[in-house]
Amino acid sequence: MTLQVSPQTKRVFHLSLPIFAELLLQLLVGNMDQFMISHFGSAAVAAIGNGNQVMNVVIIVLTTMSTAATILLTQHIGAGRVGKECSEIVTVAVTVSAVFSFLVGLFLLLEPELVFHLLRTPEDAFVGACLYTRIVGGTVLLQGLYIQLCAVLRSYTLLKEVVVLSVSMNLLNKGYVADDEIERFPGVTHQKGIHPVIECTQNIPCNPCQDACKKGCIRIGKNITSLPAIDPDKKCIGCGMCVASCSGQSIFLVEEDVEEGYGEVTMPYEFLPLPEVGDKGVALGRNGKYVCEAEVTKIRTAPAFDHTYLLTIKVPNDMVMKARFYKKEA
Ligand code: SF4
Ligand code: SF4
Repeated sequence: MTLQVSPQTKRVFHLSLPIFAELLLQLLVGNMDQFMISHFGSAAVAAIGNGNQVMNVVIIVLTTMSTAATILLTQHIGAGRVGKECSEIVTVAVTVSAVFSFLVGLFLLLEPELVFHLLRTPEDAFVGACLYTRIVGGTVLLQGLYIQLCAVLRSYTLLKEVVVLSVSMNLLNKGYVADDEIERFPGVTHQKGIHPVIECTQNIPCNPCQDACKKGCIRIGKNITSLPAIDPDKKCIGCGMCVASCSGQSIFLVEEDVEEGYGEVTMPYEFLPLPEVGDKGVALGRNGKYVCEAEVTKIRTAPAFDHTYLLTIKVPNDMVMKARFYKKEA
């Protein structure tokens, strides 16, 4: 018996992947707090756990509200009634979510003790749970708007934008983009030979990287707030102009197999004194933590780099997508 996969099934499957990624990223926001706090002991973990119970209830209510908006919007869009009616639904949905989440956030900020008395939270976790809920409760408004905006974007099948929004929330929460999240951006590709890896995650009006690449490897297009993407058909020559031109220091040049088992990462470097070729140190990741040992293989500057130095380090092949800073050994 052969299994027939209809185009409709394939479409549903492709649509579900970004939604799965979005839900995973939403879950990570709360779990990441618990992970980060784990080294403060079991009372701190219990406090975060209690706080997250309350937040989960708030998120379920917000998600239910956003589901109602999604149902109404998809009904209207499916019936071809886009325009004024859809705008009204979006306006009402976002306003109701904003007002509700503002009031809940205010309550959690001012009176979390009431909730934890009702939940009979153990004494050793009580103070921590109140403090944590005050901190995250103060951001419920942001969470409400985020959930509602995701629902609206999803209704219009703008799924790539939903994932970008989810990653941005994690970026706000953790302060850096995780290794698995960075792979979802159009500027991050894996190629043979030297090529740019663009870790630009915000839709800001900016495009010097596109102009800097005379080989046409980087595309932003007419919409200046689009994320930079890589043109896989254009060949990068490793000139470094894109790295030096990015004021966000978001561009790296990556090349695997420069020698057996080792690759190179080129990054902008603004610290003095400059390291020297042959220096040994450590490579740090996007979170500023140790990744692996590293050796400086090149330091470049040029009038066109406008006082920016490009530092190239050699690291094991499996670290070229993780090593993003160089630190000289102490
Ligand atoms: S290194 Fe040079 S050729 Fe390669 S993407 Fe950057 S600007 Fe373009
Ligand atoms: S120059 Fe840097 S910050 Fe600006 S769009 Fe390009 S990669 Fe992003």
